[in-house]
Amino acid sequence: MALEKTNGVILKSIKYSETDKIITCYTENFGKIQCIAKRARQKKNTFGASLDLLTYANLIIVKNGVKNIYLLRETNIVRSHYRLQENLPRLFAALYMAELIQELTGFEDKKPEVLLLFLKQLEMLQQGEEIEKVTHIFEIRLLTLLGYCPQLDKCLFCSTAPLAPKVGFSHSMGGIICPTCYKKKRPPSSFISMGSVNFLRQAVKLHLSKTPRLQLTASSKKELQSLLYSFIVYHLEKKIHSYRFLYPQAKETR
Ligand SMILES: [Zn+2]
Repeated sequence: MALEKTNGVILKSIKYSETDKIITCYTENFGKIQCIAKRARQKKNTFGASLDLLTYANLIIVKNGVKNIYLLRETNIVRSHYRLQENLPRLFAALYMAELIQELTGFEDKKPEVLLLFLKQLEMLQQGEEIEKVTHIFEIRLLTLLGYCPQLDKCLFCSTAPLAPKVGFSHSMGGIICPTCYKKKRPPSSFISMGSVNFLRQAVKLHLSKTPRLQLTASSKKELQSLLYSFIVYHLEKKIHSYRFLYPQAKETR
């Protein structure tokens, strides 16, 4: 059995037996995987805090013979992100992003950019960046990396770039609809301001290192909070549990 080394972030940890845990992590070399951490539930264990949620660690793993499941042999913390534990709203935002990765990615579908994006947003949260800005950049970039990015440059029907201040947004077709086409076709849609559309366009196009400079207005914050989440829920066909902790006042869309 060959040992493999990779870096990854801990997304989820569940009890497996009286002594063992199953850890879900997103890794650089294998994408999302599950690992059995033997004796991790015992008081004296070799893993220590390295299996805490959101910890970025170097993992030494070995194939367990079962598809997608590895045995975790050794861990070394690279970054613990412990400061997020001290601020509940920031912790909830980080856990929401972790749940989105868990729900939207398949096992061993390797996309190192997903890990880079998550690490960058965790860093932004730790540095005190606005929570909504961090999560909305994460949502739209993750959707793009996974092939679900809505069409934001031109109308879904007539392919022109709308000049109106507000346009339609179709969850099912995935994109914006200009006012002329909206009047003609009346498709089921919600509305979005061009200010919010521009924020999303920039959030996708800018180099990841440049995204902290983006500005999010109060009205776009409100608009994108429900629009992006309902777009995700529409395509995933299930709710993200941590959303209600992040936005306790929000009405669930489904
Ligand atoms: Zn149109």
